[in-house]
Amino acid sequence: MIKKDILSFTLSELESEVLSLGEKKFRASQLYGWLHEKRITAFAECANLPKTFIERLETEYFIMRPKVIRKLVSKIDGTIKYLYEFPDGERCETVLMSYKHGNSLCISTQVGCKMGCSFCASTKAGFVRDLLPSELLGQIYETERDSGRKVESLVLMGIGEPLDNFGNVMTFLEILSSEKGKNLSLRHVSLSTCGIVPRIRELADMKTGLTLSVSLHAPTDEKRSAIMPINKRYNTAELIDACRYYFAQTGRRISFEFALIDGVNDDPQTAKELVRLLKPVSPCHVNLIPVNEIREREYRKSGRVREFTKLLTDSGINATVRRTLGADISAACGQLRRDSLSEK
Ligand code: SAH
Repeated sequence: MIKKDILSFTLSELESEVLSLGEKKFRASQLYGWLHEKRITAFAECANLPKTFIERLETEYFIMRPKVIRKLVSKIDGTIKYLYEFPDGERCETVLMSYKHGNSLCISTQVGCKMGCSFCASTKAGFVRDLLPSELLGQIYETERDSGRKVESLVLMGIGEPLDNFGNVMTFLEILSSEKGKNLSLRHVSLSTCGIVPRIRELADMKTGLTLSVSLHAPTDEKRSAIMPINKRYNTAELIDACRYYFAQTGRRISFEFALIDGVNDDPQTAKELVRLLKPVSPCHVNLIPVNEIREREYRKSGRVREFTKLLTDSGINATVRRTLGADISAACGQLRRDSLSEK
């Protein structure tokens, strides 16, 4: 018998499961508490459930738990980078960062990625599969267990495109924010997308409270299409329109990611074009990141970060340079998983 993935059920789905097993509905909420609040790793730990029910659970369901394959701890700032492995042998990266205001976790949403951004290491080995709600939660639960630190905010900014795994990500967010689950307000969650326009609109209509980060990296269609293939499907005008819609529906300011690459997108003309593009969606925030250098590309970090930032702020666009954490364990996002692929 193929066992069912119990951590991927929302509370109402778990109620249907429990009823179908001939148990009373309230057992679902007890079980859900054991799974998501107490984080049991074996059904036998459910002290207040009948033995016969526990046996049934053991034969028909499993509790997903990723294995720690590698763990790198920064000596500079305590950032921890995990390489996790799921039951089918696929792997992903998860990064725990500690800031003054608390611990933030960056999780992956897919194994590999289809989006093909030219500067990104995650996409180079192609796409394997979506991560399930249990595997998204598992990255948080296992990190909290292993590190002893509590995750206070979450960013969906690891490997993969979250809006290309919409159903699983939405189920995950429902479980994550549920009262009997981790009970994390979605106001403490940021979702980063390369710009899948119809999904941004759908997300806006759902009014979840999530912060939306949009990976922009270039301000004109010509420049953006050259480094981000998604721009050929949804151009910058459509993207900015969707961002305006998101802000109008939710009242949440959009955060734009902009990786500065030497000689590609760090010149004053690009800054001017960026100001022009973003004016209609202001107030917003621009996160400037000196590009992480990856092996496959000749892209180099820009030396004009301060100058570029000043051009934006002088024109009334709120912009900051992202602080680098875990510099000594950095290996640009996606490289740890890929290195481990070649070792396998
Ligand atoms: N697919 C989503 C989330 C994953 S990528 C997205 O595109 O937003 C997470 C962030 O890292 C994105 O802003 C992405 O553009 C950025 N990124 C990818 N490779 C990078 C690199 N080499 N240097 C700097 N930022 C990079």
